Amino acid sequence: MSISSIPATPQTCLICNAPLSFDRARMDRLCGRGECDWRYALLRRQNRVCTVCGRPLATSESAAQVCAAPACRRAAVEDIAQRVQERNQARWEALIQQEIEQAKQLRDRVITAFGVEKPESFPLVVIPAFTAKLVNLPERRRRNFRDHLNTLIGQAAILPDTVPAADRECAASSGLGSTPEAKTVMGMACACCKGLCCEGGGDHAYLDVATVRRYMAEHPDQRPRDVLAAYMDRVGRRTYEGSCIFHQSDGCALSRDMRADLCNRHYCKALGEFRQNLPTEGPVRAFFVSAHYGVVHAAALAHGDQMLVVQGVPPPQASTPTGE
Ligand code: SF4
Ligand code: SF4
Ligand SMILES: [Zn+2]
Ligand SMILES: [Zn+2]
Repeated sequence: MSISSIPATPQTCLICNAPLSFDRARMDRLCGRGECDWRYALLRRQNRVCTVCGRPLATSESAAQVCAAPACRRAAVEDIAQRVQERNQARWEALIQQEIEQAKQLRDRVITAFGVEKPESFPLVVIPAFTAKLVNLPERRRRNFRDHLNTLIGQAAILPDTVPAADRECAASSGLGSTPEAKTVMGMACACCKGLCCEGGGDHAYLDVATVRRYMAEHPDQRPRDVLAAYMDRVGRRTYEGSCIFHQSDGCALSRDMRADLCNRHYCKALGEFRQNLPTEGPVRAFFVSAHYGVVHAAALAHGDQMLVVQGVPPPQASTPTGE
């Protein structure tokens, strides 16, 4: 047994408004007269019917090609959103492909110029590029940070330490990526990128109670007011627009022992993968290309603890969550 739904309101011909039989309402919603068929076909050819429900459009609705019914408007907006998303995705993938292609050509050209026969012996690592400009630090941001830090210092003095120091350190200090050479090479990469991942540091620099407590434990001679002063002294006058308060032209203004655990541990996807695949023996080699939306901004060749900045693309400046 088949069950058909019956429209709540009587259906009428889309052209002449004549009532429709049940069967015609389920078919093309036209009464079947030749003139209505002909006029409707003409309107369709002229794109003057709703792309969702098929009703002829009023002149004011023609531009959007969708009628004024809320359900049709909603469906059209969803459809547009879907198409925009698909287009952006396709564009994004094309850009990534373009970046990789450019980076590969650059790597092959540079490495071959050095007389190395196998350019691929320098793994290509395409990393992000941070492109914001330096601006004067607004006083409001300095105050925000001071308030945040004051709160943390107050909490550090009263709350018990719940995270064993050993647990906090293990992620940063284990594996191949923790050798001094690997850390140096990754610091070079971050200098090439200029610190995109510091963007989220805002006026808090990811500092939390655990960081402040760890810092205080390492500096028992410093009273709370000294700790506050130590951090505030590092807040510069110029910082990258929209980035962490400590993100300055020459990199992170905080020493490693002052940084949040997250800052000491974090690597972006590209660098994280590079770190995972480090060779077990021999010098660490890499060709870093820093790119943003298909545009190469900087490139550097790393071999052991040596780094060579590739000329011809803007030279990178040291700036990093992971480099010194
Ligand atoms: S980890 Fe380094 S290379 Fe990756 S986004 Fe951060 S600063 Fe850039
Ligand atoms: S590494 Fe330094 S600049 Fe980057 S987010 Fe952390 S504190 Fe800020
Ligand atoms: Zn009709
Ligand atoms: Zn409609």
